[in-house]
Amino acid sequence: MVTIREFQQLMRELYYERDSRRGVEKTYMWLVQEVGELGRAILKGDLKNIKEEVADVLAWLASLCNILGIDLEDAALSKYPGVCPKCGSKPCRCQVH
Ligand SMILES: [Zn+2]
Repeated sequence: MVTIREFQQLMRELYYERDSRRGVEKTYMWLVQEVGELGRAILKGDLKNIKEEVADVLAWLASLCNILGIDLEDAALSKYPGVCPKCGSKPCRCQVH
């Protein structure tokens, strides 16, 4: 079991030097590209490929957070502290579709 924080730390240990040299804007573009690849994998319905792409999306998001100095786990739990941030319920009771 690895927490979001530990996963982000792993990405830091593996890629921080390269990520920081690449910079925020280019790293963001990589994240966007990986989201596109995830979309194509979903359209193909290829579960193995979908799993690879969700891993890449998470990895690039963690990389982006590393160079922005953001703790991803802290950001996620600050916004989603266990209830829906809009209606305060769990499960969400917002009237949206
Ligand atoms: Zn809600």
